[in-house]
Amino acid sequence: MSDKKRVLIVGGVAGGASAAARARRLSEEAEIILFERGSHISFANCGLPYHIGGAIPDREKLFVQTPEAMHNRFRIDVRTKTEVISINPKKKEVTVRDLSEDKEYTERYDVLILSPGAEPNRPDIPGGDSGRVLTLRSINDMDAIINVLKENKPERAVVVGAGYIGLEVTEALSEKGIKVSLVELAPQVMITADAEMTAPIKQQLSLYGVDLRLNSSITTIREEKEGCSVVLSTGETLKCGIVILSVGVKPEVQLAEKAGIKIGERGGIVVDEYMRTSVPDIYAVGDAVEVTDFIGGFQTLIPLAGPANRQGRIAVDNIFGYRNAYQKTQGTAICKVFDMTIAMTGMNERSLKRSGISYEKIYIHPANHAAYYPGSSPISLKLLFDPENGKILGAQAVGQDGVDKRIDVLATALRAGLTVYDLEHLELTYAPPYGSAKDPVNYAGFVAANILRGDAKICHYEDVTNLDKNQFLLDVRTAAEVEAGTIPGAHNIPIDELRERLDELPKHKEILIICHVGIRGYLSYRILSQNGYKCRNLSGGHKTYLAFTDSLLEPDSEETDLKDDTGDNIPEPVLTDNTIIKSINAAGLQCPGPIMLLKKELENIQSGQAVSISVSDPGFLKDIPSWCKSTGNKLINVQPENGKYTAVIRKESKKTALHSTAGNGKKKTIVVFSNDFDKVMAAFIIANGAVSMGSDVTLFFTFWGLSTLRKAEKSKVSKSFMEKLFSWMMPNGADKLPLSQMNMGGAGLKMMKNIMEKKNVNTLPELIESAMNSGAKLVACSMTMDIMGIKEEELINGVEIGGVAHYLEEAESGNVNLFIS
Ligand code: FAD
Repeated sequence: MSDKKRVLIVGGVAGGASAAARARRLSEEAEIILFERGSHISFANCGLPYHIGGAIPDREKLFVQTPEAMHNRFRIDVRTKTEVISINPKKKEVTVRDLSEDKEYTERYDVLILSPGAEPNRPDIPGGDSGRVLTLRSINDMDAIINVLKENKPERAVVVGAGYIGLEVTEALSEKGIKVSLVELAPQVMITADAEMTAPIKQQLSLYGVDLRLNSSITTIREEKEGCSVVLSTGETLKCGIVILSVGVKPEVQLAEKAGIKIGERGGIVVDEYMRTSVPDIYAVGDAVEVTDFIGGFQTLIPLAGPANRQGRIAVDNIFGYRNAYQKTQGTAICKVFDMTIAMTGMNERSLKRSGISYEKIYIHPANHAAYYPGSSPISLKLLFDPENGKILGAQAVGQDGVDKRIDVLATALRAGLTVYDLEHLELTYAPPYGSAKDPVNYAGFVAANILRGDAKICHYEDVTNLDKNQFLLDVRTAAEVEAGTIPGAHNIPIDELRERLDELPKHKEILIICHVGIRGYLSYRILSQNGYKCRNLSGGHKTYLAFTDSLLEPDSEETDLKDDTGDNIPEPVLTDNTIIKSINAAGLQCPGPIMLLKKELENIQSGQAVSISVSDPGFLKDIPSWCKSTGNKLINVQPENGKYTAVIRKESKKTALHSTAGNGKKKTIVVFSNDFDKVMAAFIIANGAVSMGSDVTLFFTFWGLSTLRKAEKSKVSKSFMEKLFSWMMPNGADKLPLSQMNMGGAGLKMMKNIMEKKNVNTLPELIESAMNSGAKLVACSMTMDIMGIKEEELINGVEIGGVAHYLEEAESGNVNLFIS
């Protein structure tokens, strides 16, 4: 066939417009006619929610191409408001209806390309066809929604379906100040991801005031004078001014079906790898066609813009003699939900299970870029891979920043058939504002490859929540972390004490190890396995466990009814602006900084009064409910604001506290033996965390640990030769302590202090002062002072001097005793 082809294209948006432009690029001789039923071609359907919400204020920006521009640049005959109503494959012609003039005519084709897309589903329920119930696919749909918002000014909206369009519309309407109820049939939002990966999205929706109704569907819509009532499967009725349906799409195949083109089991047009349908010279692309899943090899429908555009191009290549095969779809997708982004590629765990494909999975939670560079935030990443050869099967990530780049790298790796071992070697861009020397993608490779090489064994949520009698749960985080929540039944031995406390662990049982994100768990695994223990580490740690239990900022239901001593409910005091008597700015502070500040401020206010605290670390959102629960204070609310979060906490009287941790039962003793800067820092971070959680804390300084308590300036005291020798060997106070490793004559320490300053971590003298101000007792060991010739005048103010008996008395009445050496 010559290049003088008559190419007719049905559908003028993603696939159709791409095909038309490519056809002209390949042939100046071809006659190209593009039919579009609607008023616009080549518009940005993906931008529609953002114009509704106001992020794209200029409506014109949505028109990527106009019929005139398409004609001027490509000499394409664009016919809008023109519907192709039938195809006659024998005569190779189509019948067309001009919707403006209401007339029909036929056009002959050499080749026909179908890109009719997919139409939004409309549930068949009473009232489902009401004028207040809208869908979003075209510019006209968008205009109709904006019209309702302008005319009726609805205060409430119901969005049905929490896929990516539903989520984007929910955000858009919320941006307009409308209270949205988001109704979803499934037990999770964004069904293309695995449930645990959507927990941060659920949290985001709740933070932005979205009323999320999972496991619910709509059964009836009743139009009323002022808006409508939406009846849910739960029996509840939601009043609103507008309903948006986003419950999936179905391929527009009627035209193809009538022409005898084969339709597949999934309801899409069947095409081969060259985008040819079952009828000669008819091609089909985009949302209307079935594609082959890249990993699973099964037929599926994946309605996304990228595949539609590429398929349009590929169909035309084949029409004009280039052999170009479409290489399956892997479902790489991304969605912004307020401050969070969720993205995925390849198969998810659910579909792997369903397809009987064996897999292993890991979870990691690294920072998006060097944690010491301001503004870093965590990414939660799940990697699915073949347990035999390490081939990547799928990946999902969620976080505030940097999610797109990690999933795009992993999508490329998956497409290239790379394995987790290859991820270890990827050389990716790095400078502190952008990433880490070990990028999260490399890091996922290290973790996964460790498992395949047998350097680590992991377990998952289902293991730690279904222990049998031959298993033992071990939490290796610090006591302060454990106080903010652990997995029921876990025994706590902080990793730094593990080697000394091995005898607390049963040799005959399998030890399942928990830490915060899996790193300390892995280190503990290495210690335990080399000491003959059978053990596994919880992949992704307690953070992944929380994502599974969905406990991220769940409303504190059982705590809302506070009871007094007689068991009667205490009425909720009304919180007014006057009740919030202080606003704390803790933005940029790392754990436990915000909690410490909060504790200090609460000490200075009356019960019933409240403070607000502004933070930038999303980890605080997990800590604060547990901290309030543990200290008996009340978390009133958490509000997001430009990527930061403001929490309001009301001080409760001890009488009403349900879980007050103050008192002897929660006494902690810490023995500081070391004079290494990092170890002493750790001791004071724990001490500050513990006092802020309401514990009594005593730090007992002995031998080299005494250096911490020395004044910076020299004191005039007389000493023997040996005492002078010790004085010379011991650093002069907290600011002079060296690093335990990589001190490099003080250069390492300087670097560390610089990093800490950039990260807004308190200095060691500040932590010491803060602990003492919060009531922590610092005790210098009298016996070692005597041995080393340290005099009382040499110690900082406020330090007590005590003997072993003093220490033992404190330790015996406490519940945690740490040894820092
Ligand atoms: P469409 O782009 O839908 O174009 C089909 C066109 O064919 C329609 O305009 C229709 O009027 C016309 N037509 C149908 N039948 C006939 C006929 N018989 N005669 C004449 N014309 C006909 N995808 C992403 O990858 N990322 C996103 O962020 C994203 N966001 C989206 C947001 C929204 C609100 C929507 C609706 C979709 C979004 N998508 C997104 C999906 C993406 O837009 C589609 O996958 C893509 O547009 C499909 O291209 P297509 O050519 O197959 O169909």
